[in-house]
Amino acid sequence: MADAKKVNSNAPTSEEVLAVKHFTDKTFSFSITRPASFRFRSGEFIMIGLMGEVKGKIKPILRAYSVASPSWDDKLDFYSIKVDDGPLTSKLQHIKAGDKVLLGRKPVGTLVCDAVLPGKRLFMFATGTGIAPFASLIRDPEVYEKYDQVILTHTCRDVAELAYGFEQIEAARKDPLVGEIISNRLLHIASVTQEDYKLKGRITDLLTSGELFNHVPGGAIDPKHDRAMICGSMDMTMDTKAIMENFGLNEGSNAKPGDFVIEKAFVG
Ligand SMILES: Cc1cc2nc3c(=O)[nH]c(=O)nc-3n(C[C@H](O)[C@H](O)[C@H](O)COP(=O)(O)OP(=O)(O)OC[C@H]3O[C@@H](n4cnc5c(N)ncnc54)[C@H](O)[C@@H]3O)c2cc1C
Repeated sequence: MADAKKVNSNAPTSEEVLAVKHFTDKTFSFSITRPASFRFRSGEFIMIGLMGEVKGKIKPILRAYSVASPSWDDKLDFYSIKVDDGPLTSKLQHIKAGDKVLLGRKPVGTLVCDAVLPGKRLFMFATGTGIAPFASLIRDPEVYEKYDQVILTHTCRDVAELAYGFEQIEAARKDPLVGEIISNRLLHIASVTQEDYKLKGRITDLLTSGELFNHVPGGAIDPKHDRAMICGSMDMTMDTKAIMENFGLNEGSNAKPGDFVIEKAFVG
């Protein structure tokens, strides 16, 4: 009897949706309430979900999501893909303010300040929704204590998909806590792969051709003082990791901080 009454301390909490914004037919962002006990490090991810039917039973449908707001914020922001037949996002894309969303209790991840050694420049390489953890980190003062310059690259298929990134940069610059610190220390470089744009191409191609460094003060990556964080598709993270290693950077982890860290923005 006592067991049946035991509260499952790992069970997700139910949080209220505060706001939703649709960017394209493929992406949207949303904010939820943050429980007072919920602690995380900027850049970490957490399980997010809704109750739904799985094989005829009503169960939580949970997926990993990077928290897109910094650790000091009193709400939690997320940036999401819409997968038409995706078990979670086919439903999640219809949430509105006042609805409930499930929030896991154990944030984890490698895209954190603790896993990367200090340096002069910190490169953040993102594709698609892989920008979410960096939306969190660019508003964390700790990042600017460890690095003089932060360079966030965001690559998407088309120009419309870049909008979320531009909005995040704008919000960071206007932020009363970090806006002034950021001013000329955060550089945002956007590129697209499938449409004409002022900077066109995959981030891996822009890195290997060296074109990226025409847009970055300080030129090519130097392992002595440059560090990197990578978040994108499986192929993008693996290819960019190989490029970092060619530049002489060593991969780090929470257990052993290094010159760069990676995280897949989704599996599949
Ligand atoms: C560490 C980690 C962090 C993540 N953070 C985020 C995040 O911040 N925002 C987010 O939208 N998703 C994120 N994801 C992906 C997320 O967990 C789900 O896969 C996504 O929400 C779709 O869920 P679903 O149930 O609708 O479809 P799923 O069955 O999970 O996915 C169906 C297919 O959709 C594609 N897909 C899934 N997610 C994406 C994506 N983000 N971009 C492009 N294609 C995708 C894949 O091909 C996948 O096989 C993350 C995944 C991991 C592993």
